[in-house]
Amino acid sequence: MKAETKKQLDYMKKTLDKAAVYDHAEHIISFDLETSCPPEGMEEQGEVAAFMSNQLFRMTHTKKFLEAVDDLYASRKELSEPEKAMVDRFYREFNRTRDITPAMDHRMTKVLKKSYVDWLKAKQAGDYSLFAPSLEAVRDVEMEKISLTRKKKKVPYDNLLDIYEPGMTQKMLDECFGTCVERMVPMLEKIRASKKVIRTDFMSRPVSDEAQAKMATYLMHLMGYDFNRGMFGTTEHPFTDSLGRKDTRITTNYDPNYFISSIYSVIHEGGHALFDMFAPEEEWDYHFHEEKSMGQHESVSRFYENVIGRSESFIHLIYDKVCETFPDAMKGVSMKELYEGVNRVQPSLIRTDADEFTYVFHIIIRYEMEKLIVNGKADIKELPRLWNEKYREYLGVTPKNDAEGILQDVHWSSGFGYFPTYALGNMYNAMYYNRMKQELDVPALVEKGDIPAINRWMQEHVWKRAARLDSDTWIREITGRSLTPDDFLDYLEEKYGAIYGLD
Ligand SMILES: [Zn+2]
Repeated sequence: MKAETKKQLDYMKKTLDKAAVYDHAEHIISFDLETSCPPEGMEEQGEVAAFMSNQLFRMTHTKKFLEAVDDLYASRKELSEPEKAMVDRFYREFNRTRDITPAMDHRMTKVLKKSYVDWLKAKQAGDYSLFAPSLEAVRDVEMEKISLTRKKKKVPYDNLLDIYEPGMTQKMLDECFGTCVERMVPMLEKIRASKKVIRTDFMSRPVSDEAQAKMATYLMHLMGYDFNRGMFGTTEHPFTDSLGRKDTRITTNYDPNYFISSIYSVIHEGGHALFDMFAPEEEWDYHFHEEKSMGQHESVSRFYENVIGRSESFIHLIYDKVCETFPDAMKGVSMKELYEGVNRVQPSLIRTDADEFTYVFHIIIRYEMEKLIVNGKADIKELPRLWNEKYREYLGVTPKNDAEGILQDVHWSSGFGYFPTYALGNMYNAMYYNRMKQELDVPALVEKGDIPAINRWMQEHVWKRAARLDSDTWIREITGRSLTPDDFLDYLEEKYGAIYGLD
């Protein structure tokens, strides 16, 4: 390595080590804000969090730092793999942000903040017209940001996809989702026409928060979550946050009339947490631990939630514990009924309540709409009509009002391009699950509770290099193939064919 490169590298690393302290503090404050801060303390605490992230921003946006990133990117041949990952992270980020002045940034942030408030009001009132002007402003901000991006991609929407899933394009998604629609629409028709009756009455029987908390703790232990390096709390919307290299926390939410919801949200967030908990130390040493793409992350959380958690062998494993923890709710419910209950396919209006099968349609609908919005082909005022049409077309259901229709998700109040990553997660995990099954007897391991054996395989193949690689290189390293929806569709056909007795 040349002396000048070494000097720049040392400077960059030292700056990031310092900035990481503010980042860590900001995470702790934000976690507290979401989980335990009293209402009247929130405003002041929000300001402290904003101060911390502003410090972080300043340290990594000086002229000297930008120059270091450019120089190091130009000499990246001299760098080791983790050093490259660190430099690439900032280089990519700066291509998006370096032409945005502080004044522009301030104006854009204000638009997004207002948009969130307007979305909340509109949702509470069930009235889209209260949100429409803000949504239009968000779209304009997104278009402005795209126009300010250096080395931008031709298709406008690709620039947004690239933020959450680097390298992903509209063309690739059109192909993937096109195949999904082709194969899943006839499957869904068969499922709906099937005479199979699936029992779900027991799932809405009342349970206590205490029982649900006991179940959550049991599940996290079972998954191999390390309580010495994390804890869990409760929030309205469950999430996972890695506060520090040895501190990965998750949250859940207890619905007193739907105990299944917390079971699967704990397994889902637990999956995100394992991915972070097992991260190689050097990801933190070189400040690229947050570089895993959203598709990679969702692939892991959905792997534990659906592929493992909703499998027959997993239900076999936890059945006794579920009966013991929720004796009244589970009275007279067989293991088979529990398995079928958590896998019932039921077209519905709300994405977050959707079953594994119909969930994909919720994503495809949002994807099709985002494309129209960003590519300038949709009138913002007309979106609810479009939304309702698509729900009728794909799922045969119609929202009664905008709150259970277009206003249900918060995502669009801050921009577009995120939704597809949820479905990409399903496709990736079906691909690596097929590879895993060549080496491990997965159902047998799950049935005897040896989830750590699965975690070890995941660590070796899926987790270890995720943050260093773009998704395409990553999935090709694991499976020898680029992204395809085929494995996922085969998996659905086999699983739901068996449950619903389809030919
Ligand atoms: Zn998730």
